[in-house]
Formats: sequence, C-alpha cells, structure tokens
Amino acid sequence: MIIGSHVSFGSEQILGSVKEAISYGANTFMFYTGAPQNTMRKEIDENLTKEAQKLMLANNIELNNVICHAPYIINLANRKDETKWEFSKNFLEQELKRCDELGIKFLVVHPGSAVGLPKEEALKNIWDALEDILKKDYTCQILLETMAGKGTECASTLEEMAILLQNHDKLGVCIDTCHLNDAGYNMQEFDQFLNEFATKIGLEKIRCVHINDSKNPLGSHKDRHANIGYGTIGFAALNKICHHEKLKNVPKILETPYVGETWEDKTRIYPPYKLEIESLRQEKFNEHLLEDIHKIYKR
Ligand code: FE
Ligand code: FE
Ligand code: ZN
Repeated sequence: MIIGSHVSFGSEQILGSVKEAISYGANTFMFYTGAPQNTMRKEIDENLTKEAQKLMLANNIELNNVICHAPYIINLANRKDETKWEFSKNFLEQELKRCDELGIKFLVVHPGSAVGLPKEEALKNIWDALEDILKKDYTCQILLETMAGKGTECASTLEEMAILLQNHDKLGVCIDTCHLNDAGYNMQEFDQFLNEFATKIGLEKIRCVHINDSKNPLGSHKDRHANIGYGTIGFAALNKICHHEKLKNVPKILETPYVGETWEDKTRIYPPYKLEIESLRQEKFNEHLLEDIHKIYKR
C-alpha cells in the first residue's frame, strides 16, 4: 500500500517534508509549496531538493508517488474579474513550474467555486483556464479534486468532473473520501461508486486518493474531515478503500485533523498520521487513538 499524509514544507522545503513523512512511517506524502491559504512562495532550493531525493531513495519513498497540493484560494471558475482569473491561472502555472523543478509528478487542484455565476458558466471558465495551462506542456500533471459541494463549489458530482475532463487527456482526478461522502456518494458502497466512476470518467483517471473520515452525514455538503474511524464513514469502509485491488498503485493521502489534549480541547495539537497509517496497514481500528498519540508526542 502506498500511503502517507499531508506534511509541511518549511524552512528546509521538501527535505523537511520528507523527514516528516519518514517520522510517520509513510512511503509517500503530500505538501503545499507554501501556506495553503496564500500565494506567497519562496524560490525552490536546488540543494535541498537533491538532498530530499537522496533521503527518499534511502527510505523507499518513490518520487513518482509524491503529491503537491495547490493553495485553495485560487479560483479558476470565476471570471467576473478578468485580472483575478488571470492571476489564478498564472499562479497555477508557477506551481507546475515549481513541481517540475522538484521532480513532482502530480499537482492536486480544487477546480473552483461559481460564486454568483451559473454552474455551466463556472465550469466553462475552469475548462478554459485548464485549456490555456495544458497547452504549455508541463511535465507535472494536474489532478482535479472531487469536492464536497460546500457553497458553490464545482466538481462535486462525477457529471461535472466529466465536463472538466472533456478533451483534456492530460488531466487526472484525485478522489477525497470525505468530500465524496459529503457530496452524497456512499463510501460504504465503494464498488458501486467505482462502477459509476468507471462508466462516467474511467478508473485510470484516479491518480490519488485522499483518505479522510467525515464529521457530517452523507450528502451534507459540509467538508469537515474527521480522524479515521471517528466519523460517519467509519474504519471498515476507509480500510477497504485503502486496500482496494483496483486502486493498488494509487497513492493514499491522509488529511485528517490533528488531535488536541482531548477531542474538544485543541490548545495544543499533535499529528495523528503515524498511528492512522499503522492502523490502516494492520487493518485494525485504533480505539485509543487520542491516548496513543499522547503517548508518542506528549512529554
Ligand atoms: Fe484538497
Ligand atoms: Fe482532499
Ligand atoms: Zn476537504
């Protein structure tokens, strides 16, 4: 199983990400090239990149399975302000360039939110933006993420996703179990979902899976991630997805929330990933996640 989590990209850039991933016992990871909420980015340091690649090689992390995530404030859907739309497009290109410098093969992108525009127009705007970007032939591939349908988010249905992928052979898809659940796709019936995906899009398009439980019920359109087995999807369903034969070679990435002193008190927080990865590898639900995390990180 190829599994890892979201990790940070700090002062040591991707070298820091690799070190963090190794500390979780992961064999892949996902990072943002800066803060996910903004578009301020530093130059990629070639020496740190080389060192990171050496460390990956020594720790069984294949560069081809590593994922980058674009910041979520860029919005390709809204073109009411042409300057902002151009900025989003431009920024995505910068991200693809950075990924090419880092040797990263996949960049996950949230397609965008319609905010006031009719859905068809918003989808057309995203499609047009992608058309412009794909012409440039970056090596790194864009993966469009399935969304929860919070607010006016586009691509919360497979039909909308199919529209965005039309005549864009270079695009792939990242499915997110929390988003799918919140969008109304039952993860307990995952084979049924895969069949539908195969018919409407094609299974070969799935290049990354975000493994998250959800704090909200099926079809709630909320997008709040929960720890594995502590949400409405449950451990059994998520475990089955992780070990699914048809997604065997697809990287699984956890984006579950950090845990606090208690489930409610989040004044100090600790990463759950080491234990969640362990439990999914062993196919055994950890009922004592909070206590076990404290044992590792609290001194
Ligand atoms: Fe995402
Ligand atoms: Fe996600
Ligand atoms: Zn989410």
